[in-house]
Amino acid sequence: MKKFGFKIIKKDEKTKARSAVIHTAHGDIKTPAFSPVATKASVKSLDPNDIKLTKSQVVLGNTYHLYLRPGTKIIDDFGGFAPFMGWSGPTITDSGGYQVSFLRGVKPKITDKGATFRSHIDGSKHLITPESSMEIQKSLNADIIMAFDQPLPSNAPEKKKKEAFIRTLKWEERSFLHWKKIKSTQALFGIVQGDLDKDLRRESLKFILDFDFPGIALGGESIGVSPQITSQTLDTIVDLLPDDKPVHALGLGGGVEGILESIERGVDIFDNTSVTRMARTGLLFIYPEDGGTRQNKFRYDLTKSKFKDNKNPISKVCNCYTCQNFSSSYIHHLLVSNEILGARLATIHNITFINNLMDKIRNSIENSEFQVLKSHWLNRS
Ligand SMILES: [Zn+2]
Repeated sequence: MKKFGFKIIKKDEKTKARSAVIHTAHGDIKTPAFSPVATKASVKSLDPNDIKLTKSQVVLGNTYHLYLRPGTKIIDDFGGFAPFMGWSGPTITDSGGYQVSFLRGVKPKITDKGATFRSHIDGSKHLITPESSMEIQKSLNADIIMAFDQPLPSNAPEKKKKEAFIRTLKWEERSFLHWKKIKSTQALFGIVQGDLDKDLRRESLKFILDFDFPGIALGGESIGVSPQITSQTLDTIVDLLPDDKPVHALGLGGGVEGILESIERGVDIFDNTSVTRMARTGLLFIYPEDGGTRQNKFRYDLTKSKFKDNKNPISKVCNCYTCQNFSSSYIHHLLVSNEILGARLATIHNITFINNLMDKIRNSIENSEFQVLKSHWLNRS
């Protein structure tokens, strides 16, 4: 079986942007890369053929959701959530830390031991510890797994945030030791917390580097809010990011601008649920050639009545399956009629758009033109 590895192909001369390859047992991931989210072992409305059609290289499943349903026993019997959903490429799982802290109705009770919570499905009581998160993720069998952490909202009281930060360090250590003990071939990423606090974020990253986790994940609300806050957050640690480990931004926000600013600061791979969620509500991405700018966030609302009789594709330059075969008028009709095909076609377009952007970014880094590409996308009005 091919071992996990990370190799830089080209570093941008002026910034921390880099093109690289993550090797996994289920294939290579060329980075910078986007990972669509398959929360419940499904990228909503897409089957694995569709996922391939969008040029996706990897998908990210959710530990909390899959643990509760269908349950680890069933997924274990299949050999992991990838075979369960019929996906043959690389996979990632998060640790469940985010969901047990943030999901509505889970009523978490956090102690140093772990997180006790109520299932949002049937109210049953559960405990996830750093050790059990490693066991669950072993059954889910993704190539990349995450340490168990306790993220808190940025507006939580300082005392609570400090407590969660210290607890997360202990939980990461326990995750790491248990991962070593069960001799998992999966690559465990430590999660950098500390919100916007420079000292805490640096301490958190140094801790992960001291333990020699195979990869680094960036967590916390400040990674998902806006391009400005994400940039500020990344600026606190960018000088410490090493060349020999991949960096994953968990739930990266900020759209196209957030993606470009994060890659400039050393992010190799990221996931995000809004790319697919927006598609289902009719918010579709457009390229600069279609009039996409930083101001309109490179997207428009296809459910608006002005698209009712528009025979053009969503984008005139997009090579996705949807744009090659269907008009804006038809997809508008499907979306406003709540036809499930609308969700599928819109999702195919949005994911392909982000993957095309990743291709362009990778090429630009390899041709020493990252800044040219960035200004082509962001400096228009
Ligand atoms: Zn398209």
